[in-house]
Amino acid sequence: MIEIKNLKKVYSGEEKDVEALKGIDLKVEHGEIFGLIGPSGAGKSSFIRCLNLLEEPTAGQIIVDGQDLTALNTKELREARKELGMIFQNFNLLNSRTVADNVAFPLEIADANKEEINDKVSELLELVGLADKADSYPSQLSGGQQQRVGIARALANDPKVLLCDEATSSLDPETTHSILDLLRDINEKLGITIVLITHEMEVIKEICTKVAVLEAGKVVEVGDVIDIFTKP
Ligand code: ADP
Ligand code: ADP
Repeated sequence: MIEIKNLKKVYSGEEKDVEALKGIDLKVEHGEIFGLIGPSGAGKSSFIRCLNLLEEPTAGQIIVDGQDLTALNTKELREARKELGMIFQNFNLLNSRTVADNVAFPLEIADANKEEINDKVSELLELVGLADKADSYPSQLSGGQQQRVGIARALANDPKVLLCDEATSSLDPETTHSILDLLRDINEKLGITIVLITHEMEVIKEICTKVAVLEAGKVVEVGDVIDIFTKP
C-alpha cells in the first residue's frame, strides 16, 4: 500500500550538497509494522520527514494506495496529511494546552464540530489509557504518558498510517515496552499500518514484522525481521 520509488533527498549547502537519501526503493504492505533502522546520519529522519510530507523529496515517488504524494497540490497535500499520523521522540505536545486539547488540536484544524471532537477525544484517551488525565497538562505527566497523548493525537484524524520517529528513544526500557505494546494493539485493533524509524535493534525485534537497514542514504538490507535478526 505504500510504495517508495527511487526516493532521493539532497540538502543544498553553501560549501557542498548533502545527499541524505540516495534512491530508496521500499514497499510497505497494509497492516505491517515496518521498521527502518540505521546509525545516526544514515538518513532515517530525512526518510520519515519525506514520508510525512514535512520535507519535499528531491526526486522519486511516494505512492500511498495508488496516490502519488509527491505530485499533489497544496490543497491535496493537506488532505493527504490526514492519512498520516506521526509521533515524535520528544512528543511535541503543546504545553499550554491540556491533554484533551492536545488531542483535539488536529480535529479543530480539520474543522470538526464540538460534539465530534469531544466524542473522539474521549474515545482516544480511553484507547491509550489516559481517560483520567484529560484535564492535566503535559508537564504533569511522565514521559510515557506524554507519548500516549502523542499517539492519541496522531490517531485523531483516523490515519491509514502511523509514522513513528524514534518514538521510544527518550523512554526507559520498561516504558518503551509499554508504548510498544500499545502500538502493537493499535496495529491489531485498528488495522493501522505502522512505519517506525529507530537506532535501537530491540525495538525492531520487539514489534516489527519487516525491517530495512539504512546506511549512508541507501537500503542495504530488507526482509522479515526473523530472517534478518535472529530473535532471542
Ligand atoms: P538520521 O536520522 O539517520 O540521523 P538524517 O536524515 O538526520 O539521518 O541525516 C542524514 C544526513 O543528512 C546527515 O548527513 C545530516 O547531517 C544531513 N541532513 C539532515 N537534515 C539536513 C538539513 N536540513 N540540511 C542539511 N543537511 C541535513
Ligand atoms: P536526528 O539524527 O535525531 O534526526 P539530526 O541532528 O540529524 O537529529 O537532525 C535534527 C534536525 O536538524 C532535523 O530537523 C534535521 O533536518 C536538521 N539537520 C540535521 N543535520 C543538519 C545539517 N547538516 N544542516 C542543517 N540542518 C540539519
